[in-house]
Amino acid sequence: MRGIVWFRRDLRLADQPALSAACYECDEVIPLFVFDDPLLRSREFGAACVNFMLGSLRELAASLADRGLTLEWRRGEPVEEVVRAAQEWKADVVYWNRDYEPRAVIRDRQVQQKLKQMGVIVRTFKDHVVFESQEIRGSTGEPLQRYSAYRARWWAQWHTTRPTAISTPTSLTASKQAAMPPSGPLPSADELGYESLSPWIEPGERQAWKRLRQFCEGPLHRYGTGRNIPGSDGSSQLSPHFRFGTISPRAAILAALQTLRQKRGDRSRPDVLIWIDELIWREFFQQVLAEFPHVISGPFRRGVSPPVREPGHERDRLFHAWCEGRTGYPIVDAGMRQLKQTGWMHNRVRMIVASFLVKDLRIDWQSGERYFMAHLLDADVAANNGNWQWCASTGTDSMQGSRIFNPTLQSKKFDPEGLYIRRYVPELASVPTANIHEPHLMSLGEQEDARCRIGIDYPAPIVDHHQAREEYLRLSKQETVR
Ligand SMILES: Cc1cc2nc3c(=O)[nH]c(=O)nc-3n(C[C@H](O)[C@H](O)[C@H](O)COP(=O)(O)OP(=O)(O)OC[C@H]3O[C@@H](n4cnc5c(N)ncnc54)[C@H](O)[C@@H]3O)c2cc1C
Repeated sequence: MRGIVWFRRDLRLADQPALSAACYECDEVIPLFVFDDPLLRSREFGAACVNFMLGSLRELAASLADRGLTLEWRRGEPVEEVVRAAQEWKADVVYWNRDYEPRAVIRDRQVQQKLKQMGVIVRTFKDHVVFESQEIRGSTGEPLQRYSAYRARWWAQWHTTRPTAISTPTSLTASKQAAMPPSGPLPSADELGYESLSPWIEPGERQAWKRLRQFCEGPLHRYGTGRNIPGSDGSSQLSPHFRFGTISPRAAILAALQTLRQKRGDRSRPDVLIWIDELIWREFFQQVLAEFPHVISGPFRRGVSPPVREPGHERDRLFHAWCEGRTGYPIVDAGMRQLKQTGWMHNRVRMIVASFLVKDLRIDWQSGERYFMAHLLDADVAANNGNWQWCASTGTDSMQGSRIFNPTLQSKKFDPEGLYIRRYVPELASVPTANIHEPHLMSLGEQEDARCRIGIDYPAPIVDHHQAREEYLRLSKQETVR
């Protein structure tokens, strides 16, 4: 039997259900990747994300080649390309791991229908999450809309089912290679229409495991506090790996839990569980997207719309300042510049800049969501949309008003020495720690000493946070009354 394994968000060999099943069931296995031309042309994702994907694909191709197999690739409209490949290669079965994004669901349904008409079997698998949405339900079978309830059910399901990871199939060898002309070397980012760059987080399955091991040896056991300090290496930085499936969430969770059994015992148990909670948030937003696809085009809570300023020059000026990291709020500017320079941003800072855009600047959250998608290395529709809606108080677990971050207080609390700020806002590098969070309060003499003139080298705040907060709350009440 000849099987095609269609790789998508699962660019790895270990704990890869579709690949394992194909190796077990087929005499010949053809690994396939399709570059989705319409998606690439839409520019929804940016160069950071595309280069991470390409780097991971190159490693996947090399790992397969080490075992005597060739990664075939196509470029075009995925439904047509997969169906054509199955036809040309006379495949008996096509295997893939499921994707829950609404457009992927439609795509996969179309491929499945066409293959069925051709008499080709389709086998799909759970992979991208530990539990799919139908496995975690409320008491009457309804999808859960609050994280705390979802989390409780998730853990109950974990303890009941005890998920395991599967290793790289040993039968993955040259004997499975089908005789056919290879597709040739993978395209470069330039050939796909994107700038070529080295991703700030190294791509590929090997790097994912290396990073996970490093994280499990140290930062994981301080995660409860470390995760909030943007100037430190306190979080795993595995998000692009989860996004492209260079590591599976099952394997990562099992590795984290394993550290408790090995040496650390109960002391760091809370830290390990807090980290797993973040992966549960990831699954929660995947299920929100799968069960409530309307979130793609509007608020989760229908009818809720945060007050936004009128379109026009002032709105555009403020949005531009936010994108460029020139708001006069150092922590916001450091975050936005980190995003532009590296394609990544610390989670705490993502929350601060999102709150600032929506609540201080009163700009629609969808503009921020799109900007993040186009710049993030880990750009993921479910996580990005879910978190933007959380910050804008339009989503699940929403709290209007009370979730307005004070950027200065956040900065003082989580970057007290200004290490993170100085790294990404070099014009503030010589500003004393006492002034780093509010450089505009420096006297002219102090500005001279710090070689940072406010309004010239670094902007004064583009809005006054306290006034902006009052205005937002006043307008929100009007919105609610209406
Ligand atoms: C406005 C906004 C937009 C975001 N957009 C994205 C996005 O496009 N892609 C993305 O992967 N994450 C997104 N996040 C979530 C979070 O910021 C990143 O997952 C996290 O910063 C990645 O760093 P890490 O790998 O070191 O995470 P860790 O702290 O080590 O957490 C482990 C993993 O859990 C998951 N995770 C952690 N926090 C969250 C969260 N709040 N929601 C969902 N999953 C989470 C990630 O897969 C992460 O790799 C966004 C957060 C905000 C506030």
